[in-house]
This record gives sequence, C-alpha cells and structure tokens, in this order.
Amino acid sequence: MKKTVKDVDLRGRRAIVRCDFNVPLDGDGKIADETRIAGALPTIRYLMEQGAKTILMSHMGRPDGEADMRYSLKPVADCLSAHIGRAVVFVSSPAVVDGAVRAAADGLGEGDVMLLENLRFRREETENGAGFAKELADLADIYVNDAFGTAHRAHASTAGIAAYLPAVSGFLIEKEVRFLGEAVEKPRRPLLAILGGAKVGDKIPVIENLLDKVDSLLIGGGMAYTFFKAEGFETGSSILDAKSVGLAASLIAKAREKGVPLRLPVDMKAARSFDNDAESAFFDADGLPDGWMGLDIGPKTVALYADEIKKAGTAIWNGPMGVFEMPNFATGTRAVAEALAASGAVTVIGGGDSAAAVEQFGLAGKMSHISTGGGASLEFLEGRELPGIAVLQDR
Ligand code: AMP
Repeated sequence: MKKTVKDVDLRGRRAIVRCDFNVPLDGDGKIADETRIAGALPTIRYLMEQGAKTILMSHMGRPDGEADMRYSLKPVADCLSAHIGRAVVFVSSPAVVDGAVRAAADGLGEGDVMLLENLRFRREETENGAGFAKELADLADIYVNDAFGTAHRAHASTAGIAAYLPAVSGFLIEKEVRFLGEAVEKPRRPLLAILGGAKVGDKIPVIENLLDKVDSLLIGGGMAYTFFKAEGFETGSSILDAKSVGLAASLIAKAREKGVPLRLPVDMKAARSFDNDAESAFFDADGLPDGWMGLDIGPKTVALYADEIKKAGTAIWNGPMGVFEMPNFATGTRAVAEALAASGAVTVIGGGDSAAAVEQFGLAGKMSHISTGGGASLEFLEGRELPGIAVLQDR
C-alpha cells in the first residue's frame, strides 16, 4: 500500500500536487469539459481543510517545450477558483518557476491554493530533467501525485520530483490503485476480462499478463479479426493487424494450455464500407464473404458475452466491441455496457474508449470504477510498474 495524503501531517506545510488538468478547450479557449478538474477537487479540498499551502501543477496539450500561451492554464485557474470558492493564485510564468512564482509560493497562507503554469512549457518536464524537478520540489515540503493519466510516464513532475520530497498519493490515484490492483491481484472470482478496440498491438501484452490471472477472457472489436485470421477464418476487408497474427495464435495456444477460456465472437455485424449508413448484414465468424468488413459483434455473441458477464464476480473491460462511434455499429458495445451495469460484479472500466462509451450510454454511475487513464490503466493491466506510483512512499 502506498501512503496517501491521510498518512501525513499537512498543517502549515507546502504541498505540491501533480494533477491532471489536461482539459479540452473549445475554439474560444474556454474549457469544453470540466470532468478532470472536478475529479481533482476531493484531494484539493482535503488539503485546504487540513491547512496545507497547496501548489497545483499540470500539463495541458502539447506545447512541446515552448511557452505557447494558447496552452496557458489560466482558464483552469479561473475554473478552480469558482469551484473552491477562493481565488487560486496564478502567476503565468513562461519558465513555470521563477522569482515571482517563488515569492507567490512563499506568500501562501494555510488553506491557500496556487496553480503553476503549464509544465510542458519546459522541455525538461517530459525529459525528466533533474534541474526542473528540483526547481519544482524547492517550492514545497511534500509531494502529492494525483494524476493517474500520466503516472505511466517518468516525467519531472510525476517521478523526478520524488527524489527531493516525501511523496504520497492523492485520492484519485489511491482509488485507481485500489480498484485496478484488487481487480487483478485479489479479485472476487470468477474474474472476467473483456478486451476490444482496434489496436491489437496495445492489447497483446495485456492479454498475455491477464491470462495468468483471469478465469475467462472475451475478445471483441477490431482486434478480433487478427484472432480470426489466426484461427484460419476469412476476414474480408475488416481491420487486420497482419504482423500480429502469429502472436494471436500463440495467445490462443497459451490460453488452451492454461485451461483459460479465451472466447472470440461467434458472429458479427458487417458492412460494405466504413460508414454508418453502408449496407449491413450479419454473418457467422467463419462466414464473412469477400468485400465485407466486420464492424460490430453480432447478436449470438452478445447473448454469450452477456451470460458470461452475469456469472462474473469481477469484470475488467477495456476497448469497445465495435465501431461504437457509429450508431448502427454501437449495439454490441452498448449491450456489454448494459450487461456490466446490471451485473452484481465489481466492474472496472479501463480508460479511453470504453470509459467514453459507458459515459455515452449514461451508465457511468452504475460501474464500480472507471479509470481516468487510458494508457496508464493498460500498462497497469500489463502488470507493469507505473513510475509515478512506484516513487510514492510505502505505508
Ligand atoms: P483502441 O484505441 O485500440 O481501444 O480502439 C478503439 C477504436 O476501435 C474505436 O474508435 C472503435 O471505433 C474501433 N473499433 C472497434 N471495433 C472495430 C472494428 N470492428 N473495425 C474497426 N474499428 C473498430
């Protein structure tokens, strides 16, 4: 277990907190979606209540080491001020840390909150430059990481800084580690993993790791066609990762060896072209004719997968079952989301597209945990140690 903000004395101490304020902006530079800011509030409010002097920091977008003011965190400072009912101190320094920023940090009182400028104005941030990490650390007495979405990156603000300060997690990272960690290491059984999406290459290491942990595994989405190819089925013009067919075959063999059921779709909804309104039809997995592309799982697969979900004690889901962005090919993804929502299982949704799908279907409130980090949750499920979590102190 990693230490959290609850394990340290905060009164009067300066806490520098890595948040994920990587929010989308609209054409007028206004914040288009405040979800990530709202997600950071419990930790910020706790620090305020405890009488800490709080210094927040984040990246936003890709200013690539330049102080490009289109990526200034000023809109985030304004939004935060409105949420916490207190003016957030914001000094817009192109260097992120300079004399004015140090003076502002020194002037903070108990319960005050300050926000630094976009960390990626400095190239050393993503390079994990020791000098920049020390500049950040010198502003504070304690380091709090609450940005799960960047915890798989060893950057100055996510990893390097912990060399200079006692390091603990905020509530967001604590929840991610608890749910993802328990789902994989101490799950209520049977443990089911449902993996979909298009990029097989990203998911193969996850499948490999999960085969040692799960009781069964369901495959869907575009990556199913690489597995179909490995089984000797025709895949028409469906998305196919030809160089991963051999790996897919070895995963099928590994699953068989371990006695872990690895289920592939038994049918699909296919279309003549990659278009919501294209002519469509249902085919069995081994019966896709030339000139058709599979874009969703079919009704027989939905019934089988829903049944598996009903039996699960814990279900981990990463990746949509079809091209859910197109309403005519969203049925399989929606059905899986609904089956998860209706199940008694502990349901853990990996970030990225499956999280977006669950939101889109209005089912987010019915899941036990929706990860805030796509890449980070995948790496976690691969069994890799995330640098931004590894640096935190053990309890
Ligand atoms: P990933 O980033 O690998 O999780 O892939 C997510 C994307 O996979 C989504 O944008 C889906 O539209 C896409 N996808 C899912 N199923 C298919 C499919 N059968 N053919 C093409 N793309 C798909």
